[in-house]
Amino acid sequence: MMKMIYMDNHATTQIDPRVLEVMLPYFTEHYGNPASRQHRFGWVAEEAVEAARNKIAKFLNAEPNEIIFTSGATESNNLAIKGIAEAYAYKGRHIITVATEHKSVLDSCDHLSKAGFKISYLPVDQYGLVDLNILEREINSDTILISVMYANNEIGTIQNINEIAKISTERNIIFHTDATQAVGKLKIDLKNSQIDLLSFSGHKIYGPKGIGVLYIKNKSPKVKLIPQMDGGGHERGLRSGTLNVPAIVGLAKALELCDQFMDEENKRLSEFRNKMQTEFLANLENVFLNGHPSQRIPNNLNISFLHVEDTALIMALKDIAVSSGSACSTANAQGSHVLKALRLSDSRIHSAIRFGLGRFNTAEEVDYVIDKVIVEVKKLRKLSFFKNKKVEL
Ligand SMILES: *Cc1c(COP(=O)(O)O)cnc(C)c1O
Repeated sequence: MMKMIYMDNHATTQIDPRVLEVMLPYFTEHYGNPASRQHRFGWVAEEAVEAARNKIAKFLNAEPNEIIFTSGATESNNLAIKGIAEAYAYKGRHIITVATEHKSVLDSCDHLSKAGFKISYLPVDQYGLVDLNILEREINSDTILISVMYANNEIGTIQNINEIAKISTERNIIFHTDATQAVGKLKIDLKNSQIDLLSFSGHKIYGPKGIGVLYIKNKSPKVKLIPQMDGGGHERGLRSGTLNVPAIVGLAKALELCDQFMDEENKRLSEFRNKMQTEFLANLENVFLNGHPSQRIPNNLNISFLHVEDTALIMALKDIAVSSGSACSTANAQGSHVLKALRLSDSRIHSAIRFGLGRFNTAEEVDYVIDKVIVEVKKLRKLSFFKNKKVEL
């Protein structure tokens, strides 16, 4: 089998072996249900869950009772948006979000719009940033929730989240952020922010799939939300269902490792990313960076190679795993809704490749990818040049 280079770390990450190791005993030896109060199996599992919850709270500077475990960011986003909408519908039925959000936010809002809520989709500038003046103008007396992602999963742009949260709080509106691409890469300090709800997922930070968190601020006035999963009343009644103990233990370890190595990992990956960007721009013509030039997460590089079809380039880079637009929407051939929101030309949208660097990428891999991309882009451009020539004849 061909050795593959993985550069699609916004879609998912390889589990860190140190994470897997701490999870294993919770599949085999300590398999109890943390809700079982009557025997040691249950106690051991519950202890592990609470230790993980404490650790996660510490890394986010939050309180343990503000951490709710879910199956991932999709569920956290659904619970936050639908749960708030249902709880506060008596106050108002207007929600503000952004055109570049993840599908789990956009589709939750779409679901609510069918139930009679009014949704405002904020535009973004050419770099993917929300204009705070436009946000302010969109707020009205009916607005109950603002949901803006922390960092974008396609173009890496980091929003001015603390300012947006501040505006929301000043106007008495609940603020939620999908921080799936930010947690583990950016320092998050929830006690010193005005974020009310925050979602993230384990498998984007070298942890396991199928586990996520919804942080819910527990400060007066307390944020209320209506659970979306009914059952045994786990997680303070907000998310019923037996807890995924091994994954919870793994998530806490994954966050610990991100926290411990954040500065050096960010430095290493941004150096790799900058080298790729510099080399592509120096060796190829008509290459454009998509997203913000500096206000972006360190491992993201989204580049349009004009006159090259994204799918053709991905095919040509056969031993390199990258993606066009977002992996979550590859099912539609419409082209990325994020790049569209930047108002890029069609040719730029359909020639965009997302490189997502990660912990396990090496300097050798980066050099290989640089060379291979440059060679393949030149080849494909030559081909399309001759194809077009033929058409002219
Ligand atoms: C991956 C991702 C999600 C969804 O996470 P799941 O674990 O698949 O539920 C949501 N938002 C963003 C920004 C993401 O990158």
